[in-house]
Amino acid sequence: MKHNARKLLTLAMGLIFLISMPCSAAWVGDARPLMGTEVSVYLWHEDEAEGRRLTEAVFDEAVRIDELMSTYKDSSQISEVNRNAANAAVIAGAELASLIQRALDISVLTRGAFDITYESVGQHYDFGERRRPSDDTLAAERVLIDYRLVEVDRVSSSVRFLKQGVRINLGGIAKGYVVERGVDILRRNGVLHAIVTAGGDSRLLGDRRGRPFMIGIRDPRQDGEVAIRLPLEEEAISTSGDYERFFEEDGVRYHHIIQPSTGEPAAGIHSATVIGPDAVMTDALSTSVFVMGVDLGLKLIAGLPDYESIVIDAQGRVYYSDGLTPPASPAANDPP
Ligand code: ADP
Ligand code: MG
Repeated sequence: MKHNARKLLTLAMGLIFLISMPCSAAWVGDARPLMGTEVSVYLWHEDEAEGRRLTEAVFDEAVRIDELMSTYKDSSQISEVNRNAANAAVIAGAELASLIQRALDISVLTRGAFDITYESVGQHYDFGERRRPSDDTLAAERVLIDYRLVEVDRVSSSVRFLKQGVRINLGGIAKGYVVERGVDILRRNGVLHAIVTAGGDSRLLGDRRGRPFMIGIRDPRQDGEVAIRLPLEEEAISTSGDYERFFEEDGVRYHHIIQPSTGEPAAGIHSATVIGPDAVMTDALSTSVFVMGVDLGLKLIAGLPDYESIVIDAQGRVYYSDGLTPPASPAANDPP
């Protein structure tokens, strides 16, 4: 009897030890310079070591996608497309071909405001080197900005350009794709609470364990300041701004979001934010709203029931799409 009791006690103590030992639940996070910006992962996991392993898996995925889709890498599949697709159809592979097709679909949706062939002119800008196309180059190559010059064959996963000189660049959609894929990896591995961010694109998985995540929209003209804070969960949010990559010359800001109809940087807005269920869409739509301007941009978003937008114009005025309630404070622009 006494012996049995001792055995039971040993067993119970062993169990308590087992239960309390390996479970160090924690928020885990890290950030890396990738894709010409910063990619970061922040997640909650019951097992910290496993959380760190999954964080690495997201970075690995970002590296893989960048190697496929970066025009800065000669070895990437998209560089191969840009080199040869005007001569013959180039096998791009299912993943790249389908993202290019999604980009073309968004061009139709936005009436050409979003157009990956902006790169036909975009390749002549180098913001770090303060380089921009000459007027002659601009005049000659502007006509090559036209998404209808790109054909994707879904069966063979190949891409063809209908004119010599056409170039494509997925910079307006690839970061959204990275964060969407990153969150997929986490979700499939049982993670319930996370944020994956690449530059101005974030995808939230769940909430901050009972509270929403607080997401800040940058003040477009005050470095490091937040203009607007939003409580969000289970959504994607993307901001496109004229402050990410630019140089100034004679009082003109040459930045990285190109108006396809002119081949020059889009004017009129300082930043456009889009919120919705899918980061590929919010990424492409934030670029599109930036190009379209306040009126047409908000009209586009009004036609997409799952998506909302916040626009800050060149005077610093803030505009909200219909589904968002502006803050009831003096900061709101419109008088009641
Ligand atoms: P970021 O997060 O770098 O600010 P954005 O989502 O604002 O990215 O997109 C800007 C990028 O999109 C540019 O750096 C360029 O690669 C690409 N881009 C610029 N103009 C257009 C356009 N009209 N349509 C599609 N992509 C564009
Ligand atoms: Mg974008």
